[in-house]
Amino acid sequence: MTITALTPVSRSELDGVHLEFRSVLRAFVRDQVLPIVDESEKSKSFPKQLWSKLAGLGVLGIGLPEHAGGTGEADSVAMMIFAEELSKASGGIAITPIASSYLGGPYLAKFGTPSQQKTYLEPMIAGKMVAAIAITEPGAGSDVAGISSVARKVDGGYLINGSKIFITNGGIADWLIVAAKTDPAERHKGISQFIVLPSDAGFGVGRPLEKLGWHSSDTRELRFDDCFVPDDRLVGEVGRGFYQIASAFQTERLVLCGMALGHAQVCLDLSLEYAKQRMAFGHTIGKFQAIRHQLAQMAIDLKTSRLLALDAAQKLDANAHDSLSVVSMAKYHCCRVANTIADHAMQVFGGMGYLEETRIALHFRDARILRIGGGTDEIMLEVVAKQMGL
Ligand SMILES: Cc1cc2nc3c(=O)[nH]c(=O)nc-3n(C[C@H](O)[C@H](O)[C@H](O)COP(=O)(O)OP(=O)(O)OC[C@H]3O[C@@H](n4cnc5c(N)ncnc54)[C@H](O)[C@@H]3O)c2cc1C
Repeated sequence: MTITALTPVSRSELDGVHLEFRSVLRAFVRDQVLPIVDESEKSKSFPKQLWSKLAGLGVLGIGLPEHAGGTGEADSVAMMIFAEELSKASGGIAITPIASSYLGGPYLAKFGTPSQQKTYLEPMIAGKMVAAIAITEPGAGSDVAGISSVARKVDGGYLINGSKIFITNGGIADWLIVAAKTDPAERHKGISQFIVLPSDAGFGVGRPLEKLGWHSSDTRELRFDDCFVPDDRLVGEVGRGFYQIASAFQTERLVLCGMALGHAQVCLDLSLEYAKQRMAFGHTIGKFQAIRHQLAQMAIDLKTSRLLALDAAQKLDANAHDSLSVVSMAKYHCCRVANTIADHAMQVFGGMGYLEETRIALHFRDARILRIGGGTDEIMLEVVAKQMGL
């Protein structure tokens, strides 16, 4: 392929580097991921053999510091492409490295000390350690400032008490970034973040939580009973945790857009193929207006999602003044559209869509969490409304 052929026609299309990255990932997903999806869904576990392969591709270090083995450059578009291509196989498999590298990694990249980066970030990028982020609690999800876990200062460190829920990678993580109140009287200004290790005394992990989807992803409840963490495991500054979380949320939301695009694209592709060959009343079902219009609507919805997501990613990387609003718009729109498209796909497939073998069922259930995790639909609308001066 010539360079000219790879030059983007407009900013709304991927450039040559990203197109090449996408084709490498497509081959990887076809050869290494798709064949193990069924087994992974059934065993409800992430296929461990993928870690070294993902590290070999360099995708565990996108946007993370070069000295730790990462790519250095902030590249939200590349992260979204990774999320999309992996989610075409399975959302549960996709979210596992995403939660570790793209959600956990940036905390240490932006706010970690050189020693924290060497000890935790570097092995994670090399595929030798897994990370998790623990913010949500039984009593506070959307309301991050309302968390009640406490980190009390003691000699040489902090004693953490409290609990977390819904923590992705909670049972497989080698290190977790945990948010707790260092000043319980405060809300936004009272939160700090700490690196907790599974071997820390007072740290406990609950049984895997049974979920509607994301079967290949590990989700746990965590407990902290006088869990001691030394001073050198504070991440960033005392009292700045809420703001650190808010900045990391932008990347998380874009990556979830990528996942949404993956589910939507597969559902559209499979539906189109099916509509062209499934016969009813002497015609292929794609000849019925009700079905062909549904497919046209899916294509339009997917296109608008793609444009919005790419715009949001470019704006975030360029630090554009309206990136907060556009990222929230994209998260809201892409995740809703993925669910609508998965629902239409189920309808186009009729009974076959409800069976595991067509994979529509997997995408239908894996897409649903995207409207909840990383900021619910309602919270996204709140962010957009606030940016409109309301
Ligand atoms: C599978 C899974 C994986 C997850 N992984 C992680 C993880 O790795 N780490 C982590 O920390 N968390 C994780 N979460 C938690 C996730 O981020 C929260 O579930 C999400 O933020 C919503 O919080 P909540 O469940 O407490 O809902 P709530 O905040 O209780 O919200 C309930 C409902 O009220 C609405 N609502 C709340 N506040 C407002 C408002 N101001 N205006 C309008 N409506 C409002 C919400 O939109 C929602 O519809 C995960 C969750 C799931 C299910």
